[in-house]
Order: sequence, then C-alpha cells, then structure tokens
Amino acid sequence: MSPTPSSPQTSGSTTSSTPTVIPRRGLMLVLSSPSGAGKSTIARNLLERDRSLEISVSVTTRQRRPSEIAGTHYHFISIPQFERMRDSGELLEWAEVHGNFYGTPREPVEAAMADGRDMLFDIDWQGALQLQEKMKADIVSIFVLPPTMTELQSRLHRRAEDSEEVIATRLANSRAEIAHWREYDYVIVNDDLNTAFEAVQSIVRAERLRRDRRHGMFDFVTGLIEETPVL
Ligand code: ADP
Ligand code: 5GP
Repeated sequence: MSPTPSSPQTSGSTTSSTPTVIPRRGLMLVLSSPSGAGKSTIARNLLERDRSLEISVSVTTRQRRPSEIAGTHYHFISIPQFERMRDSGELLEWAEVHGNFYGTPREPVEAAMADGRDMLFDIDWQGALQLQEKMKADIVSIFVLPPTMTELQSRLHRRAEDSEEVIATRLANSRAEIAHWREYDYVIVNDDLNTAFEAVQSIVRAERLRRDRRHGMFDFVTGLIEETPVL
C-alpha cells in the first residue's frame, strides 16, 4: 500500500471519516525456519489476509513441486541462468540450500521499498544475514521453530511433496539451521498454526507503528502543534 501524502493530516482537515495515515518506510519481513516447520503456510495465510503485503518471488534451480506454480511460488530457472543473474548483480542475496541455488531478484524489492510497500521474504538464514547486512533498518526477521523434531519429521512427510531422499537431506540439515535462531528479531514456535499466525500478525502490526519507520510523523506533529482548534 502506498502511503498517502502527509499534507491532509497536517492541515487540520482530518475528520472522523478520513483516517489519519502517517507516511512510513516499507518493511522487509523475513521468515526463516528449518524445512517443514511451517513458514510457507504462515506466509500464505499472511498474504491472503494482508493486502498491503507482497511476496518476493525467488529464483531457484530446484525442481518444481507438483503444487507449485511457476512465477507465483518461484521462478524456476537453470543453473547457467542462475549464475548469469548472480554474476550480473541481479540478485539482492543468494544461497545454496539443500543442494539447490536460491536467490532474491533485486529489482522488485528496490521498487517496493522506494514506494513504501511491505515485502515478505521466505528465505534461509544465509539470505537473512545478507539482507541484514545491506538493509538493516528495514528488516524485521522472524525464525519459526517446530514444537518437536518428531513433529518436524511428520510435517515433512505429511506435506508429501518431496521424495524420501529429499526429506532425509532436509531433516539432516535442520539442526544446523535451527542453530541460527539467535540471529533473528523474533522467534516463534509453530505448535498451533492459528496461535503462531496471530503472533506473526501482532509483530507486523507493531513493527508498522515504529516511530523510526514513520517518516511522516514529523510533519504530522508539526501540523498538530501549529493547529488552531476550530469550534
Ligand atoms: P516450510 O515452508 O517451513 O518448509 P510448510 O509451510 O510447507 O513448511 O509446512 C510443512 C507442512 O506442515 C505442511 O503440510 C503444512 O500444512 C503443515 N503445517 C504447518 N504448520 C502446521 C501446524 N502448526 N500444525 C500442523 N501442521 C502444520
Ligand atoms: P524450499 O525448497 O522448501 O522451497 O526452500 C528451501 C529453503 O530455501 C527454505 O529455507 C527457503 O526459505 C529457502 N529459500 C527460498 N528462496 C530463497 C532465496 O531467495 N534466498 C535464500 N537465501 N533462501 C531461499
């Protein structure tokens, strides 16, 4: 959602039927977890309910899963295509995860940030670290944990979209991924999906209200102080 200009709110013309909107910077919401903990499910729920959030569609060299739509879930590309994008600086961050390459196209993110729109990133800890280094002020990062390793394993099987071999690789990598939990702003345990989802929604709501993101607040407060009440 593009913020509206600050002038209507600073001129004293606000009425109860026109809500005050304070212009702010867009935020970059990063969700990471070991595979199967539920971050894509949480991300999907958020995107369905929050129209002002858009997803960053990554490029990947992995095989498309049966349920995935090219261009919606990922841009599925070849290794040479990936290498070309990476080497020409078209990726904001990239990583090798579970034996495949993944990366975030730079252009849509820069356009969203310039417009003050919010973006959601479903990326691993390596990507989260790269974004933190480049755009620290705009990042809100959340790490999603499974309640138990047994439940993680059964979710990977229940998803039923990967081969036994792929599931085994992902499980074997999960402890090393979980070890990065301290690098995130928030950590939530996805035991009950609704509870976890509500926690993520609360984080987004509060982060959107942070003073340092709301650059329009200065003009708003200046207008407020200078305003002469009309009886
Ligand atoms: P990730 O994106 O972290 O790899 P997914 O979102 O694909 O994980 O979730 C893996 C599987 O677990 C899916 O089948 C999903 O429906 C299921 N799942 C997600 N969260 C929960 C939960 N809280 N309780 C039970 N099953 C869940
Ligand atoms: P999956 O194959 O299950 O879709 O994703 C495997 C892992 O790669 C997940 O941890 C996911 O968050 C991560 N991933 C997906 N896209 C990107 C990306 O663009 N960059 C990075 N660094 N990781 C990604």
